[in-house]
Amino acid sequence: MSGKSFNPFRMAQVQFDQVAELLELDEATRDFLRYPMREYQFSIPVRMDDGRFRIFRGFRVQHNDARGPGKGGIRFHPQETIDIIRALAMWMTWKCAVVDIPLGGSNGGVVCDPHNLSMKEQEQICRGWVRQISRDLGPLVDVPAPDVMTSSQHMLWMLDEFESIRGQKTPGFITGKPVGLGGSLGRKEATGFGVVFAIREALKELGIRPELTRASVQGFGNVGQPAANLFQQLGGKVISVACWDQKDQTSYCFRKDSGIDFDALVNVTDHFGGINKERAIALGYEVLPGEAWIEQNVEILIPAAMENQITADNVSKIHRNVKIIAEGANGPVTPEADEVIAKRNIFLIPDLLANAGGVICSYFEQVQSNMNYYWEKDEVLGKLDVKMTSAFNEIVQLAKKKGLYMRDAAYYIAVARVVQACKDRGWI
Ligand code: NAD
Repeated sequence: MSGKSFNPFRMAQVQFDQVAELLELDEATRDFLRYPMREYQFSIPVRMDDGRFRIFRGFRVQHNDARGPGKGGIRFHPQETIDIIRALAMWMTWKCAVVDIPLGGSNGGVVCDPHNLSMKEQEQICRGWVRQISRDLGPLVDVPAPDVMTSSQHMLWMLDEFESIRGQKTPGFITGKPVGLGGSLGRKEATGFGVVFAIREALKELGIRPELTRASVQGFGNVGQPAANLFQQLGGKVISVACWDQKDQTSYCFRKDSGIDFDALVNVTDHFGGINKERAIALGYEVLPGEAWIEQNVEILIPAAMENQITADNVSKIHRNVKIIAEGANGPVTPEADEVIAKRNIFLIPDLLANAGGVICSYFEQVQSNMNYYWEKDEVLGKLDVKMTSAFNEIVQLAKKKGLYMRDAAYYIAVARVVQACKDRGWI
């Protein structure tokens, strides 16, 4: 297996196997945790705007709920597969455990491309998805959230459908809702801000001042935008941003050596995180092929787009000045690339930790929704910072004590907690 073809579920299993070995887990425990506890695959019929019916494939995978109700995103993507969902559900189990929130790991999605669907068609997909799976979801069972190409609007349609089916208001059913309709202040920024809280701690650890650092970011959506914004507020400079160009069906990397003007760049970005090429050129950006984001002369790389982006094929292109890789996306680095990164002594902030801000804040949203009492934004972001920083410190301490790669240290803590919960419940 090499480069781009790494199956994400296989990748999640390889990562788990390495830590299962370290923890000396018995055979049954490994078998139990290498696979999801439950999987659902279903068809969603939708009457399209032209009057014809089209059938969409939907998924929900519940990897493990020993520590609490399942939690995890819903992704709309044309290349969605059950294996991507399995991997994301498994990563979610570890992520909730490593930041110590009382939730399990789930994930779901629909094979579709919202770029080519009207809002009405997307609404029907959301409602259809909930109708197919509503019996196996709920505030105390499994709580969905947004992911790639799904937004607060999609979450609200899903909530509305669920509440119609149940005949009661259950705002804790889903997170990532609009503020004012059960959403939490700070949720929009949470994942990207969490990435930067972790970068801030890593810079302290390495003794580097943020003002002296530059970053290259892949992805300029829900995660990439707030990450780039807060990183610049911290004093660093984002010199390049890569994203997908729907019109040209390829990715581009937009570079400005003096640093991006965040507000101006957001102004020429669509709601899918696609930057308008012509308008970016007019703003003085150099346009490079999408892959160029990885070879920039920067101290920090922030992959915040998709899985499988730093692979055996391109890991050697990482510039010698890179000191930190912060995984805003889920699974952007393959195990083969991990080996090279570890050898080069680059400080990796693994996805389990780096992008956990999203699920931490989703958890806060769920708590607020269930109480029907909402916190101020500063309170939400303050609590987020505390959670991120303490999880970061715990992982770094363990990595130092046992001489582990950061990913393995994060896995070690997470898997041990999940195993303990399964054992305490008498499951294994
Ligand atoms: P998004 O749809 O808002 O943005 C995705 C961005 O990636 C867009 O800018 C898009 O143009 C870009 N992109 C897509 N394909 C690309 C490619 N091949 N090359 C370069 N750029 C490409 O998605 P998001 O919510 O920001 O999620 C990004 C990643 O972060 C995913 O891996 C997701 O699972 C993970 N994540 C998201 C959250 C969250 O709260 N949204 C939380 C945790 C993890």
